[in-house]
Amino acid sequence: MTAPTLTHCPYCALQCGMALTVGERVTVEATDALCQKGWTAAELLSSPDRLTTPLLHGRPATWEQALDHVASRLREVRTEHGPDGVAVFGGGGLTNEKAYQLGKFARVALGTSQIDYNGRFCMSSAAAASIRAFGADRGMPFPLTDLAEADVVLLAGGNVAETMPPIVRHLTRPALIVVDPRRTATAKLAALHLQPTPGTDLALALGLLHVAIAEEALDGEYIARRTTGFEAVRISVSEWWPERVERVTGVPVAAIRQAVQMLKNADKAVVLTGRGAEQHAKGTDTVTAFINLALALGLPGTPGSGYGCVTGQGNGQGGREHGQKADQLPGYRKIDDPAARAHVAAVWGVEPETLPGPGRSAYELLDALGTGEGPKALLVYGSNPVVSAPRSAHVTERLKSLDLLVVVDFVLSETARLADVVLPSTQWAEENGTMTNLEGRVQLRRKAVEPPEGVRSDLWIIQQLALRMGHTWPAEPREVFDELRRASQGGTADYSGITYERDGLFWPCPEPEHPGTPRMFLDRFHTPDGLARFVPVQHRAAAEEADADFPVYLTTGRVLAHYQSGAQTRRIAPLVEASPEPFVELHPDLAEHLSIGAGDLVRVSSRRGATEGVARISDAIRADTVFMPFHWEGANRLTNPALDPTSRMPEFKVCAVRLEKVARE
Ligand code: SF4
Repeated sequence: MTAPTLTHCPYCALQCGMALTVGERVTVEATDALCQKGWTAAELLSSPDRLTTPLLHGRPATWEQALDHVASRLREVRTEHGPDGVAVFGGGGLTNEKAYQLGKFARVALGTSQIDYNGRFCMSSAAAASIRAFGADRGMPFPLTDLAEADVVLLAGGNVAETMPPIVRHLTRPALIVVDPRRTATAKLAALHLQPTPGTDLALALGLLHVAIAEEALDGEYIARRTTGFEAVRISVSEWWPERVERVTGVPVAAIRQAVQMLKNADKAVVLTGRGAEQHAKGTDTVTAFINLALALGLPGTPGSGYGCVTGQGNGQGGREHGQKADQLPGYRKIDDPAARAHVAAVWGVEPETLPGPGRSAYELLDALGTGEGPKALLVYGSNPVVSAPRSAHVTERLKSLDLLVVVDFVLSETARLADVVLPSTQWAEENGTMTNLEGRVQLRRKAVEPPEGVRSDLWIIQQLALRMGHTWPAEPREVFDELRRASQGGTADYSGITYERDGLFWPCPEPEHPGTPRMFLDRFHTPDGLARFVPVQHRAAAEEADADFPVYLTTGRVLAHYQSGAQTRRIAPLVEASPEPFVELHPDLAEHLSIGAGDLVRVSSRRGATEGVARISDAIRADTVFMPFHWEGANRLTNPALDPTSRMPEFKVCAVRLEKVARE
């Protein structure tokens, strides 16, 4: 038995600490509170589903054969269709080192602009809104522990009691206001639950600010000293009187007024958004409306108060900082900024003009695959779009139409099953690497155990493919991180003072002796004049409204036992036992109207496809809405790929469906 290795959970953005002991099997001890996903995380290391040999057209191959085939096919596709004929799709669970190296691989080795990642489906609306208001996006620009200092926390569209339960210990002191169409486990903890119709959070946020202005709840001194643009926002909310908001959202006037009173009476308050507010075709504007409210109350940049986004994926924060996003270079730099291009090109040893410009966003990239103008070859790292992309049956057809699909994964995910080449990779506890948690804290995830015979690290795979394209790059995580530090230097997300020996620091950390920055925006925001921006926004209807053909709203989300597309957690027996199958949650009134009983099999159809789930009847959901978790293939066959014009976020959180009971076979 070796000494325990201190490391972190492989799953969500809380990145809870754990100690792994390697004996006959790997055992987990908690150094933080853990949820059931964390406790069982080590089971996947020895899963019989592990891939241990490359697969070439479904048959085992040597690494040499598989890599040579991939490199030669990539070269052929590039020759025939140009550099943008090949594309890369990354993931928000990849370490910072992998996200960095993947971006470099796409832009330097392949020369393609066509790279994006599944984080576009997660935090992109909050990121766009934060950059618009504050000039920078660090999801939670203050330590988590600050939440416990607040008197009130308003959480719009997040079910943290299920998705990341240990965070709840920071939410026991503040009075909680939860905005969610479902009375979730989190809403049950709340002092006040606002239950809007899906797709109307923006109207609710406008109404809250309208009432806050009427009730003189604003911090006028803060608005004058630290912000600009309030007058336009004041005018923009003037017509959102509470009775109108009640008509649009279904939230009673009294509840809207009560929420504002709670915020007004609080010395310290925090406004948080999650995917429920963000995953809309107007997600950026919805988050902006909540940020406008927070600014009007004087919260961002005030100790113990603030605005934050509750990032979901394990490295959702770091994953969007190092260059796997279509419009970004490392250090959270804009790819069309000449100074950013010059800095990163110098680190990469190339001329700035050789770097491609911005490419397609995640859904647009998947939608274009195999079409006349679209990429003909795709490399997928750490992502499972067959389950997680909107309008997923269409995305599956696009993937099938490719000349070459390569998937790097440690199990045969639904996407890997379609691949021409599958390359088996190491897992979290089998390699070193850094992850940046939802607070912007950079943490070293340490190697605890040797990988099985036959698998290779993602960094090694990138190195070997790059070598076949004429580039000699490191595969050692520490070496890659040191290069990432140089590439990030001077950027918004500056990691240059963070090392493997000095992990646990919050970025920006620009010098080797710098203590890191737990709280951002205390003196100035990251804008040219240091002032936060109020941005006027207006409510608009969901891209698809319920109608006679599809009379019910569908909203999707997560359950405690599973993580993201479920490719990992659906292979862990205790988690499958806890949550074995897809389900449809519906209100008793709707169930009675459709003659559906608890446990019946229900077909749910939208304009894009259909799927089935087991009926769960609950008065915790609105009678006009049904809920499905997206951890199984099916829910996203229904969802609407209508995109936010700024963030390019698809509208996962609302579409129109119809339900029917079906006979079990
Ligand atoms: Fe892992 Fe998140 Fe659960 Fe913590 S809350 S144990 S990081 S899944």
